[in-house]
Amino acid sequence: MAVVPEAGSVDGYVHAVESAGTLDGPGVRFVVFLSGCWLTCLYCHNPDCQNINNGRQVASTELLKEIADYKPYLQHTHGGVTISGGEPLVQPAFTEALLRGCKKMGLHTALDTSGFPGWRAPDSLLDVTDLVLLDIKAGLPELYERITGKALEPTLEFAQRLRARDMPIWVRFVLVPGLTDGEDNIHAVAQIAADLPNVERVEVLPFHNMGIHKWAEQGMTYTLSDTPTPTHEQTAHAVAIFREHGIATVYGGSEGTTAPL
Ligand code: SF4
Repeated sequence: MAVVPEAGSVDGYVHAVESAGTLDGPGVRFVVFLSGCWLTCLYCHNPDCQNINNGRQVASTELLKEIADYKPYLQHTHGGVTISGGEPLVQPAFTEALLRGCKKMGLHTALDTSGFPGWRAPDSLLDVTDLVLLDIKAGLPELYERITGKALEPTLEFAQRLRARDMPIWVRFVLVPGLTDGEDNIHAVAQIAADLPNVERVEVLPFHNMGIHKWAEQGMTYTLSDTPTPTHEQTAHAVAIFREHGIATVYGGSEGTTAPL
């Protein structure tokens, strides 16, 4: 059935929602996974998200009504709403409408982005964003391009824009054995984070192969099927390198899953 938007509503394409996420920001989060992404990460666990047409068309007002039902619970856990993907900045108007509506409800808002399309985020969108989860796929430009198919520079430019606005950032880094776990690369990501005084923490996320079947379903070739999940020692080593740079670093995507290292 076609969605008829209310006045002031913006339509967008949504891949999925999660009403009680614990991996994408502080507290319990209502997470909206938008479809559409311009990167082609080798380890993407949602390759079906990359095509915007794989999403369900939704009016922002409808989704905000759904989020409102969870408001007491989200606030009780000091959580909020995270707009993720895919890449939310492929749909900046829809993303802003959701973030704005959540702020009006008094909910904490987070934007989970690679930063690559950061130039598409108007200041008005950042004005209604409390926290940016900035995914830095690699710190070495050549490696970044190998992993994502795109350049690192736009992400760094976006980070500088967030720095100028003094917006809190949580850097997220996926540790992939044999791909991103080289010490030179980890040091490079850590240096990027250390040079940004607005980075509050780094989250080292261990690679996993759980999305592998989706690649086949999309008719795409997955090249990391023989790559293992990092060992405890490998992860601890990566965390230690970040901490050497003076950055608060945790293992995993939220306080709830942070293992002591
Ligand atoms: S940025 Fe995220 S959604 Fe886009 S290709 Fe990379 S892992 Fe997949």
